[in-house]
Amino acid sequence: MVVVRFAPSPTGPLHIGGVRTALYNYLFARQQNGRFILRIEDTDRARFVPGAEEYILESLEWLGINFTEGVGTGGENGPYRQSERAEIGLYKQFVDQLISSGKAYYAFDTPEELDAMREELKDEHSDVQQYNHATRQGMKNSFTLSPEEVNRRIQSGEPYVVRMDMPADEEVSFQDVVRDTVTFNTNQLDDKVLIKSDGIPTYHLANVVDDHLMAVTHVIRGEEWLSSTPLHVLLYRAFGWEDTMPVFVHLPLLLNPNGKGKLSKRNGDKMGFPVFPVDWNDAETNVVFPGFREAGYDPAALINFLALLGWNPGNDEEVMDINRLIELFSLDRIGSAGAKFDLEKLNWFNEIYLRKRSPEELLPQTKIALTQAGITLPDDPFLIGMIGLMRERVKFVREFATEAPYFFHSPIAYDEKMAKKWTAESAVLLAALAEKFEPLAEWNAEILHHTFQELLTAREVGAGKVMTPLRLALTGTSSGPGVFEIAALLGKEETQKRIKTALETIPV
Ligand code: GLU
Repeated sequence: MVVVRFAPSPTGPLHIGGVRTALYNYLFARQQNGRFILRIEDTDRARFVPGAEEYILESLEWLGINFTEGVGTGGENGPYRQSERAEIGLYKQFVDQLISSGKAYYAFDTPEELDAMREELKDEHSDVQQYNHATRQGMKNSFTLSPEEVNRRIQSGEPYVVRMDMPADEEVSFQDVVRDTVTFNTNQLDDKVLIKSDGIPTYHLANVVDDHLMAVTHVIRGEEWLSSTPLHVLLYRAFGWEDTMPVFVHLPLLLNPNGKGKLSKRNGDKMGFPVFPVDWNDAETNVVFPGFREAGYDPAALINFLALLGWNPGNDEEVMDINRLIELFSLDRIGSAGAKFDLEKLNWFNEIYLRKRSPEELLPQTKIALTQAGITLPDDPFLIGMIGLMRERVKFVREFATEAPYFFHSPIAYDEKMAKKWTAESAVLLAALAEKFEPLAEWNAEILHHTFQELLTAREVGAGKVMTPLRLALTGTSSGPGVFEIAALLGKEETQKRIKTALETIPV
């Protein structure tokens, strides 16, 4: 059975690239009828940010990216927070195993001693400034201290770390679905810390142990983890787990809209778009990092857009809802080239999805957007009518407030160009129409249209002669949805009032 996991670290708001990683895992799991785990990798307490875990859960829930087990959901492989796993001593036996088999060792160097080593190497113009097979000989560790001395130091409570014994000059190769065979030389790698001086494992150790214990079959994650993978492969080997090692899938980078450089918050700010799923209030600086949700994006549009950032269905299909994506998704069509974040495309998807939603579905978002725009909310049936008329004319829900203010108040001004074309005849015809409207007992678009037709026949005039002045009177503009639909929604009283005001104020 396919088992995948999303394993974010709660170090701040989840970047949109992380959302794409979660989405690809989700699509793959759903397609394969597999399991999808949410694991929180919070062993780096120095970088822990309160609220980040809740933010991750809220973002993924908004997008409908659901887990079969994990933090928030529970399951039989828990706990799913690595800090809790460390607390119950889950990693200890694995570290002991590595030490007793000679794959890992103790090191007692103080931060000052480590700095001094790096400085010295810098002075020697060495390009490797790291703790490795060469430099470890000059440091305080299991290689340079006697077993008795190592024991004595541990017994006396001296702080220590456990490091990986990275072999010298060995080629480590592994298969990656996106990049085929990837090879690193161990000389590029250092003796990574596996257990920190506070006794807590680092990302690398906890990640490998947990993927093994949770029987993860596919590790689908961002390209930035590619360089850590040889270490992970060596850990699988050291534990004797190579046979069940997961398949690696490293996703391409997300690039700026211009294709230059990694997509970053700074670029997003500069170009005026979010790079986070939902708003994040940074407690330290009190700055709000804008999110796609609050910027008015439809979650289904964002999902469709993200799915295509690094993957394609192999044909020219573009608009795919979640079920279609689940059906078509495949790991072998993930590309290795960086994917440009094309904002225009996202906005296009947003427009498409907005039209697919029913007015009822759009109602809650619309209320929020209108309230934010300072508009006093009309009742729900009115709003639903308005959404039905305007849905095809906007890209964002917030545009209901700006594109059609006449639904919320009578025109403040009349379009100048149109007002100039207003003649004595316009006034006469519009007054006649208002008169024909007055006795109507029923008020809907069909009846209004019929009444209007009667007027045209009686007066022998073209439709534009009456329609344009009516539209100007009701909306102040020259374009928009059907004018009889607008009048029907506004109601008789409001329609007649607006006609009267226009007749009184537009000069002939
Ligand atoms: N905790 C890592 C992160 O924050 C997970 C990387 C992985 O999926 O292995 O992205």
